[in-house]
Amino acid sequence: MTHLRTRAVHAGQHPDPVTGAITTPITQSSAFNYGTLERGAAIFAGEAEGYRYSRFGNPTVAALEAKMADLEGAQAAVAFGSGTAVTSSLLLGLLKPGDEIAFLGPLYGGTEGLFRSLGERFGIKAVDATHSGLAACLTPATRMVWVETLTNPGLRLHDLAEVAALAQARGILTVADNTFCTPCLTRPLELGIDLVMHSMTKYLGGHGDATGGVVAGAAALVAAVRKTGLGHVGGNLSPQEAFLFLRGIKTLPLRMAAHCAGAAAVAEFLAAHPAVRAVHYPGLTSHPQHALAQRQLQGGFGGMVTFELLRNERAAAAQVLNALQLFTQAVSLGDVDSLACHPASTTHSFVSPEARAAAGISEGMIRLSVGIEHPDDLIADLAQALQPLA
Ligand code: PLP
Repeated sequence: MTHLRTRAVHAGQHPDPVTGAITTPITQSSAFNYGTLERGAAIFAGEAEGYRYSRFGNPTVAALEAKMADLEGAQAAVAFGSGTAVTSSLLLGLLKPGDEIAFLGPLYGGTEGLFRSLGERFGIKAVDATHSGLAACLTPATRMVWVETLTNPGLRLHDLAEVAALAQARGILTVADNTFCTPCLTRPLELGIDLVMHSMTKYLGGHGDATGGVVAGAAALVAAVRKTGLGHVGGNLSPQEAFLFLRGIKTLPLRMAAHCAGAAAVAEFLAAHPAVRAVHYPGLTSHPQHALAQRQLQGGFGGMVTFELLRNERAAAAQVLNALQLFTQAVSLGDVDSLACHPASTTHSFVSPEARAAAGISEGMIRLSVGIEHPDDLIADLAQALQPLA
């Protein structure tokens, strides 16, 4: 199985040996019979394979973990009940008081907030290296570097191979949040990053019906995160949700191709519209990192498009957003349905106006998660919503 499309369908899944069911069953059991005291003791000691209790591992969840490890080219993966549970488990499982985490942002607001609140309480310092550059921010205490493969809402990139080389030379662990790109567009481990994580709630699930997270990488690192995140924090994914992710991932490459094609068409339409001041999409030649995007993103430039209105006011953004009919106003992303949001009043409303300005988040900015509908229909919807401003 060399092609991602084939692996997305088959990796981690086999017909059920008892019933022959082709679809991985939802194993809805909290505990598992280990039969004899001796086998139970061996499983608990880690000397025998087997399930004991679903907080530590479950067959449906294990199939999903195997599929994600395969798609990211990792030795192992561990799934959680949300992307945020992955982030907190990485911090609690791999860092200790006195350690520093350097990040290249702007990051998903929840991740930055978690760095600061967990960090303050447990003595881990979060250092924002976005403006001064990573090299200037690394100290002997830096233990982890955190980066997103496409930033939100500006859709900027970081050179992952460069980040990995810089950190690796100093023995610092690197984590890439690949939620916006998925393994269809970027595989950070192939570029030297140590751990790759996802909010599966987005493109991996793809249907807006489940929350989950996953992290993949070397077996020893994943085992440490599993021990803390599942054993101590208890952030496990339910088998029902794992089933939905297994089903969603089978069509991930097909969906991503449609998201990318739709987003490219929408970005080009917006770039030519008289009511639009700027369009942020890595596939446009006007994107300041288009060359890096061509190198780092394979098979497309993603399904997210952010644009800024010529009339840089909240009222103008409201007029457009409230007129949209196919795009639903909601903050998530990666669903088959197209979504639209106003970052300044939603995802980034907790950020100070100064910090928003520094991150380039204007009042006239709108973020689109382009779904898999026909691009002509999406463009027609945007055209009618923008028409009064033209
Ligand atoms: N990482 C990114 C890039 C996100 O956009 C999100 C959520 O929006 C998360 C992590 C957190 O994931 P979850 O909402 O599944 O906890």
